[in-house]
Amino acid sequence: MTIAIGRRRMMAETGALLSLGALAGCAGPMTKGSPSFAASSSVLQLPRINAGVDRITRINVCTRPFRPQGPRLDVESIAGKTVVHNYGHGGSGWSLSWGSSAIASDKALATGEKQIAVIGAGALGLTSALTLQRAGAKVVIYAKELPPNVRSSLATGSFTPASRICFEEHVTPAFKTLWEGMCRRSFLAYQDLLGLPGDPIEYIDTYAVVDSLSGFQPRERPAGDTRPEFARLQRELTPDLIVRGPTYGPGQHPFGQRYVRPTSHLMFNIVEYSHYLLSEFHQYGGRIEITEFHNAAEFARLPERTIINATGYGARALLGDNSIIPVRGQTTRGIPQPDVHYGLSYRGNSFLPRRDGFLFQHGGDEYQGFNDATALPDRAEAEDTVKGIAQLFAGS
Ligand SMILES: Cc1cc2nc3c(=O)[nH]c(=O)nc-3n(C[C@H](O)[C@H](O)[C@H](O)COP(=O)(O)OP(=O)(O)OC[C@H]3O[C@@H](n4cnc5c(N)ncnc54)[C@H](O)[C@@H]3O)c2cc1C
Repeated sequence: MTIAIGRRRMMAETGALLSLGALAGCAGPMTKGSPSFAASSSVLQLPRINAGVDRITRINVCTRPFRPQGPRLDVESIAGKTVVHNYGHGGSGWSLSWGSSAIASDKALATGEKQIAVIGAGALGLTSALTLQRAGAKVVIYAKELPPNVRSSLATGSFTPASRICFEEHVTPAFKTLWEGMCRRSFLAYQDLLGLPGDPIEYIDTYAVVDSLSGFQPRERPAGDTRPEFARLQRELTPDLIVRGPTYGPGQHPFGQRYVRPTSHLMFNIVEYSHYLLSEFHQYGGRIEITEFHNAAEFARLPERTIINATGYGARALLGDNSIIPVRGQTTRGIPQPDVHYGLSYRGNSFLPRRDGFLFQHGGDEYQGFNDATALPDRAEAEDTVKGIAQLFAGS
């Protein structure tokens, strides 16, 4: 792997909302969603978040399936089957799922087969299956685990389509076209899922809080850091997809002498959203078989001749694909409050008001958890993260 130093900038606002932080510098038309800050109120009225460590319900650890060259979407012949791959989406799997699965489904349908197998029931497997069904195919999902026991169920739940999607050195003009197509197609698909019962998908405002205005400036990478840069495609290719609000200074928000900038963006309530995806799959007559494949030769036992392989991080062991690098991430869940409907990021910690449980996350830089497949929760980190958000309300 060649080491690209290239553009040596990191964003000041990091963490779970890394991509949102990256977008904080992008202005876009105020046309999407219903951001509360767009009401041009000069003082933000935000209900207090009850962020106590005694309200932690669960600490989850999970691995992102990162590939330096980006997701795998090629077609292979394995064990007499046509196998279309749809895995390796790093920290962007939910966000890119509909666009990526549309590409995989088109390739599967191009074989002429009408009965298609999908291996995997995470973000990519479920959207592949539904996309095939909507095109008239009969689909069976084969998977070792279903939601809520898939890795996708442990994600943050933000529209972050460029988060750890590939290294900058692999961004060719063709990859830009591919990524932008997946991103915009997914974005549109999510617009069609707004307003459903239970709000599986909704817009929220997230407030980036900094101690001084310089905190909004991009941060230089430390001198001597020669690690490859992660691609930052969103700012260049889709700056219009997240809405940015004005800067609020001291006296205009509940966070003391700090400065605050909102963005309006899509949030996925993953419990309700997975329920929606599975229900719709069954309504189309889909069938699920719980099974594990120990190697690709076992694909031979499936009756279907065409397969979409959406096994995520599992593809590393299943196919011996060592290009998949685990990127460990920890999220801390807490008791939700119905009146709190906004997100926060402050000093590398972030908060999302997920309806299926408040979600706290410590970000660090994008290399946090890189090449780390360990799954042990870190309670001290979880408590520090919650306290990091709670300190914003100290004195209020
Ligand atoms: C902490 C964290 C936060 C994240 N936040 C976000 C976010 O905010 N937004 C976003 O877009 N993305 C986010 N991601 C990334 C996203 O979660 C992943 O990109 C996505 O979950 C990958 O989905 P998948 O369907 O490929 O894999 P998985 O969810 O892992 O699903 C794989 C499926 O394949 C099955 N399987 C695997 N191996 C086998 C086998 N051998 N035999 C049979 N079945 C098998 C599994 O049982 C499962 O059903 C986050 C990831 C992490 C870790």
